[in-house]
Amino acid sequence: MIELLFLLLPVAAAYGYVMGKNSAKNLAHEQNRKITSEYSKGLKFLLDREEDQGLEHLIQLLEVSADSVEHYLTLATLFRKRGELDRAIKIHELLIEQPSLDTELVKSCRLELAQDYVMAGLLDSAESNLVVLVKAGFEDAREPIIQLYSQTRDWEKGINMYEAYSDLFIDKNSCAAIANFYCEAALESDDLLLLDKATKLAHQAIRPLYELGLDAYTRQDNVKAIYYWRKLLSEYPQISPLIINDLQTCYKSLNIALEYYELIEELLPISGVTIKIKHCQGLVEAGETAAAIEFLTDSLKREPSIRGFSYLLQLLSTKNTKIQDVLNEIDHLVTSYIATKPDYQCHKCGFTSHKLYWLCPSCKTWESVVPNRGLDGY
Ligand SMILES: [Zn+2]
Repeated sequence: MIELLFLLLPVAAAYGYVMGKNSAKNLAHEQNRKITSEYSKGLKFLLDREEDQGLEHLIQLLEVSADSVEHYLTLATLFRKRGELDRAIKIHELLIEQPSLDTELVKSCRLELAQDYVMAGLLDSAESNLVVLVKAGFEDAREPIIQLYSQTRDWEKGINMYEAYSDLFIDKNSCAAIANFYCEAALESDDLLLLDKATKLAHQAIRPLYELGLDAYTRQDNVKAIYYWRKLLSEYPQISPLIINDLQTCYKSLNIALEYYELIEELLPISGVTIKIKHCQGLVEAGETAAAIEFLTDSLKREPSIRGFSYLLQLLSTKNTKIQDVLNEIDHLVTSYIATKPDYQCHKCGFTSHKLYWLCPSCKTWESVVPNRGLDGY
């Protein structure tokens, strides 16, 4: 109730403004009388604890005090924070009905109203308000509507919205989200044409090429799998730990191991320890274990890595048969340690997990969860 007295501020401002207009005394007097009357009614309702009517009367004063919308928005935010969503909704609904309000302000109020509805679990009402804003080209509505469709898993609606208003969804985050909407819809319906549509957004997103490659790999179409995944790695080399084993299988099946190691050479300067280990495996296969040990030792001095250390122990054990058991035991301990560490981390909120999530469960961002890097990572 105390918060409702916030509304005194705009009323006081309006009162001062009206009183200052000496050149139109009669008009000012009339407006002042109106304000005072409405304000008194509003205050009386509030004092009688009839807060809804009190709010309505005070909101009516906006017609003569449109500059004070900020105060009402602050009050609504306060109600929302206290969980009094019905009151926040009431204020925002009344504000967007004010004919005196600037169109941009009405859009901001509508966005706030949509957020009230989301918090209240009234997702249909939230959606209808956000759709109005998207149709009006209001950029601030972009993220909330993507989050809404991500939450409701309404991929088709999200795709239709994107196809109708694609000019609004051109930033990287939106493109990644829409690309994932296409992928989710494709996987649910088995409609691979949707994956093709998603590739239009491929330079902005990881998943379309990943899924296309995986689909080809599952069908043992190794040529296509290599085509899609190499294209993916040229844009996103950080994703290599996710696909490099399967990619290696594709090359081996086609008897083109040389091309595989050419790819490893390409990735070496821009990738983490996984690719370094693959490079060492190539050296070992070529009978150059000593060179592999030297390469890895040198690399670990510059960039320490637990996985790299584990592989080095394995290489050393093949070369030192006398202490093989000891080295294997140490490697076993190191491997057990690695198993306790998360495989993936969200670069936006820090969420970690052993499983890959395309939509971060914590911050609800698409494609922000990637293979972990650093000392314990890949
Ligand atoms: Zn996150």
